[in-house]
Amino acid sequence: MDFSWTERQQAAHDRVLAGARALGAPGPAAPADLRERWAACAALGLTGLSVPEELGGQGYDALTTAHVVEAAGRGCPDMGLLFAVTAHLFATVMPIVEHGDKALREEVVPRLADGTWIGANAITEQEAGSDVTALRTTAVRHDGHYVLNGTKTFVSNAPAADLLLVYAVTDPAFGFLGVTCFAVDRDTPGVTVGAPFDKPTLDSCPAATVTFTDARVPASRVVGQPGQGAAIFQSSMRWERTCLFAGYLGQMARLTDEAVQHALDRRQFGHPIAANQAVSHRIADMRLRLETARLLLHRTCWLMDRGEHTPLDIALAKLHTAESAVQTALDATQLFAGSAYSTRTDIARALGDALPARTFSGTSDIQRELIAKGLGL
Ligand SMILES: Cc1cc2nc3c(=O)[nH]c(=O)nc-3n(C[C@H](O)[C@H](O)[C@H](O)COP(=O)(O)OP(=O)(O)OC[C@H]3O[C@@H](n4cnc5c(N)ncnc54)[C@H](O)[C@@H]3O)c2cc1C
Repeated sequence: MDFSWTERQQAAHDRVLAGARALGAPGPAAPADLRERWAACAALGLTGLSVPEELGGQGYDALTTAHVVEAAGRGCPDMGLLFAVTAHLFATVMPIVEHGDKALREEVVPRLADGTWIGANAITEQEAGSDVTALRTTAVRHDGHYVLNGTKTFVSNAPAADLLLVYAVTDPAFGFLGVTCFAVDRDTPGVTVGAPFDKPTLDSCPAATVTFTDARVPASRVVGQPGQGAAIFQSSMRWERTCLFAGYLGQMARLTDEAVQHALDRRQFGHPIAANQAVSHRIADMRLRLETARLLLHRTCWLMDRGEHTPLDIALAKLHTAESAVQTALDATQLFAGSAYSTRTDIARALGDALPARTFSGTSDIQRELIAKGLGL
C-alpha cells in the first residue's frame, strides 16, 4: 500500500489546517452566528469538499476528504462548528449528489456546496432513534405533491437551515422499501422549526425539532425514487461514519500535541510531570489510538473510493474512531487536571464534544451489531 499523499492532497490539507486556526473559538452560538461563520468555512472549501467540481465542490475522493477534514479538526478547536459543516456536507449534500436526479442536483447542490445554503438531515424521531424502521412521519402523494406530516427531533443545523433532507414513510406496508427521501425548502408552508435545543456539547451547532403539518412538497423534490429512502440513508451514513469522524482524528492529534507540551511544561515535585511514567505512557496511548484510528479510517475511505467497502469496514472505522476520541479526551482531561476546567485550555469542552461521537451516526452499540452481523453472527 502507498501511504504517501500527492502534492494536491497535501496542499489541500495544509491550506485548511492554516485556515481552520482562524475559524474562532467554540461557544454557544445563535443561528445567525452560525451563518456568519459558515462563510469562512465555505471560503476554505469545507462545505463542498466531496462534491464534484461541476456542481461547485472541490471534487475530492473520500480519502482526500478525510485528510482535509482531519486538518480542519486539528486546526479548529470548535468541534461544534466542524460538526455543523460536515453534517451538512455528508448527510445532506452527498445523498443529493449521489441519488438526486439531474434537475434536483443542479438546482440545489451548487448553493449548498458554496455555502450559500445550509443543509440539515432529519431522520430521527422521538420513537425512532437507533431503530430507523420505526419512522412515523408520513408523506402522502396528492396532485403532483407529497403532503408531509410528523415531527423530527435532534435535527442538527435546523435553526439555521435553508434545506432539509427528510425521510418519511410513503408506504407503511413495505417497511424498509416504504421510506422516501425528500429535499424540503425550510420556508415551505407547514414546516415549523422549533427553538434551538439548550445542549451541553457541540454548542456552535444548533439543533431543533422540525414539525411538518400538511407541508406540500413537490414530487420533483423526491431524492432518488419513492421507496429508496432507507437505502439512501444507509448510503449517506458511509460518508458520515468515515469522513465526518475524520474531524475527531484532528481533535485527537491536537489534544496529543497539547498533552506533550503540557507534560513538558508543568512541573511538580521538582520535575516535569512527563518524567512520571504514568503520565508519559498515557500520552503514548493517546498517540497509538490516533494512529490506529487513522489507519482504519483511511483504509475504509480507500475501500470506499474503490467501491469495495462493506458495512463491516464502515462500522469498524466509526466505532474505533468514536471510542478513541472519547478515551483520548478523557486522558487529556486527566493529564491537564485542574487546568482542564479552564476556558484557557478548553480540554473539558473537548471531552464534552467527543462524547456524542458514540451516539450520532449510529451508536457504538449499533456499530458492534453491524460488525457482528458482518461476521455472520
Ligand atoms: C450531537 C447529536 C447530533 C445529532 N444530529 C442529528 C441530525 O442531524 N439528524 C438526525 O436525524 N438525528 C440526529 N441525532 C440523533 C441521533 O442520530 C440519535 O441520537 C441516535 O441515532 C440514537 O438514537 P436515540 O438517541 O433515540 O437512542 P436509542 O435508540 O433510544 O438508544 C438508547 C440506547 O440503547 C442502545 N440500543 C438501542 N437499540 C439497540 C440495539 N438494537 N442493540 C444494542 N443497543 C441498542 C443504544 O446504543 C443506546 O445506548 C443527533 C444526536 C446527537 C447526540
